[in-house]
Amino acid sequence: MACDCGLNESFELCCANFIDSVNHAPEPELLMRSRYSAYARKNAAYLFNTTAKDKQKENSQNDIAQWAAQTKWLKLTVVHATQCKIIDFDERNPPTVQFTALYLHNNKLCQMSERSIFVVENRQWKYLSGEILADEQLPMPKRNDLCPCQSGKKFKRCCSSN
Ligand SMILES: [Zn+2]
Ligand SMILES: [Zn+2]
Repeated sequence: MACDCGLNESFELCCANFIDSVNHAPEPELLMRSRYSAYARKNAAYLFNTTAKDKQKENSQNDIAQWAAQTKWLKLTVVHATQCKIIDFDERNPPTVQFTALYLHNNKLCQMSERSIFVVENRQWKYLSGEILADEQLPMPKRNDLCPCQSGKKFKRCCSSN
């Protein structure tokens, strides 16, 4: 089974490398993907720890946990990502990752697009902020439709059940 973030490796060989270990994501895109997987797995500690210091004041780990608990993440698509190594980081021109994500919230299917900005703190990539480009409700699939997460299963046997 593919990783939550959409790459073909299993979670253990993909985002767990950063979420469940002492390693840090070498590129903004990999941090972004691992943060998406952490949302999908409701790992608020990882999300908090990979947020830039200034931004941590705005959302406590509890806030993140509450929000994550109410949302089911179905699918991530990375649209564009700046390739940038930690040593090449320039705060005047921070790298960005643009993505779309499909999620269920309060029994509604929604798709959001965001452009996130990443910075380096203590030699680690951190999420600084995101500009929401779109966030729209999509028609709810019928129970026998294929699941929008593209598992190939029927919606009723896949992401519709909690
Ligand atoms: Zn992954
Ligand atoms: Zn599904």
